[in-house]
Amino acid sequence: MALLYAVTAAAQGSPAASLLTGNLSEATYSPVATQFKIETLPGAKAVKLRLYNEGMGGKPIKTVNLKHSPTAGGNLLWEGTVKGDLKGKFYTFDVKYGKAFKGETPGVFATAVGVNGRRGAIIDMRDTDPAGWSSDRRPAIAPKDLILYELHHRDFSIDASSGLQHKGKFLALTEPRAIAHLKRLGINAVHILPSFDYASIDETNLQVNKYNWGYDPLNYNVPEGSYSTDPYNPVARISEFKQMVQALHRAGIQVILDVVYNHTYSVAGSPFQCTMPDEYFRLNADGTYSNGSGCGNETASEHEVMRRFMVESVKYWVSEYHIDGFRFDLMGVHDIETMNTIRTALNAIDPDIYVYGEGWSAGTCAYPHDRLAMKAAVDRMPGIAAFSDDIRDALRGPFSDDTKPAFLAGIKGHEQSIMFGIVGGVSHPQVNIGKVNYSDHFWCNEPTQLISYVSCHDDMCLVDRLKASIPGIGIDELIRLDLLAQTAVFTSQGVPFMLSGEEMLRDKKGVHNSFESPDSINHLDWTNLEKYPQVMAYYSELINIRKQHPAFHMGSAELVRRNLEFLPAGDCVVAFHIKSGLRAQGVNESWGDIYVVLNANKQATTITVPEGDYTVVARNIAACEQGLATISGSTVTVPAQSALIFHN
Ligand code: CA
Repeated sequence: MALLYAVTAAAQGSPAASLLTGNLSEATYSPVATQFKIETLPGAKAVKLRLYNEGMGGKPIKTVNLKHSPTAGGNLLWEGTVKGDLKGKFYTFDVKYGKAFKGETPGVFATAVGVNGRRGAIIDMRDTDPAGWSSDRRPAIAPKDLILYELHHRDFSIDASSGLQHKGKFLALTEPRAIAHLKRLGINAVHILPSFDYASIDETNLQVNKYNWGYDPLNYNVPEGSYSTDPYNPVARISEFKQMVQALHRAGIQVILDVVYNHTYSVAGSPFQCTMPDEYFRLNADGTYSNGSGCGNETASEHEVMRRFMVESVKYWVSEYHIDGFRFDLMGVHDIETMNTIRTALNAIDPDIYVYGEGWSAGTCAYPHDRLAMKAAVDRMPGIAAFSDDIRDALRGPFSDDTKPAFLAGIKGHEQSIMFGIVGGVSHPQVNIGKVNYSDHFWCNEPTQLISYVSCHDDMCLVDRLKASIPGIGIDELIRLDLLAQTAVFTSQGVPFMLSGEEMLRDKKGVHNSFESPDSINHLDWTNLEKYPQVMAYYSELINIRKQHPAFHMGSAELVRRNLEFLPAGDCVVAFHIKSGLRAQGVNESWGDIYVVLNANKQATTITVPEGDYTVVARNIAACEQGLATISGSTVTVPAQSALIFHN
């Protein structure tokens, strides 16, 4: 919808009363005229609008001095209308404070940009819609049923072995081979690493093998140009992004955006700073920029302009791009009130739009800690989830030392942290919170507030971590432990999350932080699918078991407490039972009693269960929802370094 933004009524007592609301886009195109609007601080002296034929280079074809009027809150709204059909032209604003212009910027809410994102682009947004876009629907998947797959566009498709045509591009995810792989694996949501316009890749020089994760935001509301087939054409990146969303939606797969509102690529020259100096950033008492992001600055979500920006930005991605969920980078830099405001705004559209984030910061924030959206505060943020480093590090070892082993290496003492992850971080009578590694309270009100995982783009991937923490590990042991780790993840009542390529036994040659490593480190090697077919087979069947059996994702803390019980087990073993009778409680489960045993010991272990006949669905390195074997009796043997799942 091309809503013009309006000045809100000065409603008394409303904290947003001073601000513009609605569509914050600063350029509104029509074939007869384009309207430009930009909000500045009251101290701004002048705003020049410059129009260009090119997205980069060349001289302005027109310069317009915008006229201002006060907003209800005392800021200034600068406006101008340029007659004629400006489609295909580019623009910048240049705001003067004191005696100096701050520099040309596309504005804070550009929705289309030229190459490298330094100028706004004037387009008709409807030209970006692929055929059938108006009937595109977000797949209806409740948060409890999500299976998240974190993917970098370049990792996934850049290698020749991918067999994909659009290497490193949004369009790779429209190709049948890509879709078929994701469908076979069974995930139902692709979480794409930063795909908004970021700064570290020179879009004019894409022939070089330059890689970046993209955590350096430039324009938050435009797709990244290097992932399009033509970054010079402002329509291409938008249209191709939508084609990607559409193709995934047609396959029943949601698209989750990694959003990085916590910092900008730089302060000087950023659209925020060029428009409202220091208003979007947190400052220390001495006037320096606070650096809770570890990237040189941090934004100030508690400031009304930043909060409004974040709320309108996520709403924009939902309405214009049909995005299904958001992963907040360093969510702990943002304040709780803003995250709850975002949740409320998304609830008005669809409460199933999933929101989760990293419940930590990368440094000290210039804001009271107890008001930040940290993991420990998730219980004060209903409908918002956080990554559980508890289960992650209990399985693989601490983030602070790649060589330090944990449960997977047969080190005892991590069982309670894994149990915490298995119940989805909700209060459970058998989980001793005093023995959980990083948490001193049950921070989830509901299990859907915990992201269960063992690896992501950060730190070593699982294969590298196993190699680093278990010297001399052979391929057989590595595969056993890899599958054991993911069995813990995918039988957790939290929302399971995996890094793209783990199903191919990916490695990153031991690189811990591969944010700008070349493709040779980051790429997926698709030939591994043939080399280690048992890995993909186990992952996809494990996911299938989860999807077919709601007992593994009950979605309610009360149901988890009532129906999931841990069994007595020795060191380096976590065993649990999901009781039969779920149907009477509204969970449409076809199996009866379900047992899961995670055995990290180098020897087999035994578990005692009620006398009976059971069907085994996962054992050693094989899994099959239909059943691998039947067993009888009351003593069950669980092979070394593997998981056993069985039911009656
Ligand atoms: Ca870019």
